[in-house]
Amino acid sequence: MRIVVVGAGAMGSLYGGRLKESGQDVVLVDIWAEHVAAINRGGLKIQNEKDVRVIPISACLPHDAGGKADLIIVFTKTFHTEEALNSVKQLVYDQTLVLTLQNGLGNVELLNKFFSPDKIILGTTNFPSDLIGPGHIKSLGAGETKIMAFGNCEVNRLEKIRKALDAAGFKCSVEKDIFPLIWEKVAFNAAMNSLTSVTKLTVGRLGSSPEGRDLTFQVADEVLTVAEIKGLSVNRERVRKMIMEAFVEHYDHMPSMLQDTLAGKKTEIDSINGAVVKEASEAGTAVPATEVLYKIIKVLEKNRTP
Ligand code: NAD
Repeated sequence: MRIVVVGAGAMGSLYGGRLKESGQDVVLVDIWAEHVAAINRGGLKIQNEKDVRVIPISACLPHDAGGKADLIIVFTKTFHTEEALNSVKQLVYDQTLVLTLQNGLGNVELLNKFFSPDKIILGTTNFPSDLIGPGHIKSLGAGETKIMAFGNCEVNRLEKIRKALDAAGFKCSVEKDIFPLIWEKVAFNAAMNSLTSVTKLTVGRLGSSPEGRDLTFQVADEVLTVAEIKGLSVNRERVRKMIMEAFVEHYDHMPSMLQDTLAGKKTEIDSINGAVVKEASEAGTAVPATEVLYKIIKVLEKNRTP
């Protein structure tokens, strides 16, 4: 199975690097020329609690990507998905499957512009990863990967992908219905990412005041209410536990939205809080706290230094 990871930043490098380490044929594709050159020159460095492993793996710019891909894993930020898939069309043939584990809502709809439903696999991951510099990422702690075929993907091909992810250490399971889990992750992100970005506090510091904790639960609850109106059986207790654990175990963590806000970069706010505001309006309900945070981040984005 030839795997091409499109968007080889923090997460793409983690998944691509570990899949390569476990024996898969993997190529990393990214528009960041310095990163691509560093990986080709000295390998991909993956740092964890114990050591830094150097993985020999090929990387290239989109227009240099050749051959055909049996599986494309999209790991750009959500607002780059369309542009990224447009630039690797040459890799697609009638057997190409595409997998998204990106955060937010609307990822499947974007993939569906390029692939029929039976070629799309979607899911969630809670593995953490940070970019350290060109050719170098850091991932502390473990997680789980949950996937589901969007359409009628051949069962044995889905199982092959699950096994490959599992063998690479991503603890992968196939879910019957991934959408409640996607919404639970969106609830967590809509609260945690936007609140840390607006307050400029780490996860633990946000949770160190009753007001910070209240606001986090308020936003998450708003999002879960929208999911319930849409008929999804989300698990409120699971999200509450995820938030409480994050306050303690990820005390010093700065979510990528906070990092992007501080660096004056575009964030994924449109596909997280923005998408929830839209879904809420279509469902005839309001998500006031989620919407205020959405608008504040948009104001910050529009005033970012170029
Ligand atoms: P990132 O910014 O580190 O990586 C994105 C990469 O995409 C960058 O290297 C960028 O150069 C590249 N890119 C941009 N446009 C491209 C294009 N046209 N073609 C090819 N590459 C392009 O982001 P990330 O943290 O790896 O996040 C990726 C996705 O995974 C996001 O949806 C994020 O929410 C989700 N996610 C992240 C984490 C995490 O811990 N970092 C955890 C779970 C989910």
